[in-house]
Amino acid sequence: MYKARAYSAASAASPLALDTIPRRETTERDVQIEILFCGVCHSDLHTVRDEWNSVMPTVYPCVPGHEIVGRITRVGSAVTKFKPGDLAGVGCLVDSDHTCPSCQSNLEQFCPDATFTYNSPDKHQAAPVTYGGYSESIVVDERFVLHVPATLDLAGVAPLLCAGITTYSPIRRWGDIRGKKAGVVGLGGLGHMGVKFARAFGAQVVVFTTSPGKKEDALRLGAHEVIVSTNAEEMQQHAGTFDFILDTIAADHDINAYLNMLGRDGTITLVGAPEKPLEVSAFALLFGRRSLSGSIIGGIAETQEMLDFCGQHNITADVEVIPIQKINEAYERLLKSDVKYRFSIDMASLKG
Ligand code: NAP
Ligand code: ZN
Repeated sequence: MYKARAYSAASAASPLALDTIPRRETTERDVQIEILFCGVCHSDLHTVRDEWNSVMPTVYPCVPGHEIVGRITRVGSAVTKFKPGDLAGVGCLVDSDHTCPSCQSNLEQFCPDATFTYNSPDKHQAAPVTYGGYSESIVVDERFVLHVPATLDLAGVAPLLCAGITTYSPIRRWGDIRGKKAGVVGLGGLGHMGVKFARAFGAQVVVFTTSPGKKEDALRLGAHEVIVSTNAEEMQQHAGTFDFILDTIAADHDINAYLNMLGRDGTITLVGAPEKPLEVSAFALLFGRRSLSGSIIGGIAETQEMLDFCGQHNITADVEVIPIQKINEAYERLLKSDVKYRFSIDMASLKG
């Protein structure tokens, strides 16, 4: 066991503050990573404030962060994929049982024994729960570590490890989206990646936003059209016309308004995870034989596929790089939808 500097929250009501946490020594299959950048996901905020208490209560101290990019500093004796000095990425998963049907289908995110990067029981018992990437280093089984394209800007790569795969996976799963009308609801961290991927796969991309000020950015990011969702007239014009909608909203909202945007057999996939249940009107589904589904991150192989795709197509997140000392301010800005379009923490700030 060794000690690492980190930012943690002591309770749901506490701000994040400097702390020292235990990390395990590298075992045979582990790599140790010096963290360079860590993206700030809205899930970090939900977890720190215990907003998902009914599903996944938060254990304190809580060290969030699951959009990790860094450099390998040490490898265990059985490690084959990495060597010291390599760039590496870690997303939301750090372990699974490797034997269940989901693991065998490369869908480790659905393994009943999956270990998430933070707030999951720590099988290595370095601490009661796993601690995430708001830290100077992390030790991870190499099977959950990704290769990062060296050509991309690392601050903008970090968010691909969650926001990237979470939007890439459901768009790919939908099928051949070329020429289809695809909506992305909410232009935040996930949403702006959804726009980039939907556009890269050839969809006719429409952004739904509550922030009229994001209109130009949405078009620059790849949208063909933008709908201000608070404008009933604009919404009505597009009713019944969408093939697919990706809903990334982090807060309570009227899902029926978006179901009514779908055409026959259209699908909404929820990736946003609001604290409170959504209220679905049966009629919004019945008319048009519409579907409402959900999706959570992606498996390790698909995450690597997404990173390779980003390397080939020069895709990264649009980031505002912040020092770790600004993290509490960043959370307040997330709550006001004031982020363009992902905060990425420069972890060098943790040393100073
Ligand atoms: P984010 O950066 O805060 O973006 C969320 C966006 O939703 C905002 O920028 C805003 O966009 C819109 N929005 C916020 N409040 C709204 C409201 N009351 N009504 C309508 N729109 C609202 O958050 P994120 O990091 O992208 O995460 C989004 C959600 O996905 C969170 O709940 C997070 O926990 C969840 N998540 C899920 C997965 C998964 O695997 N399924 C992975 C990561 C995150 P506009 O300003 O454009 O309206
Ligand atoms: Zn996330």
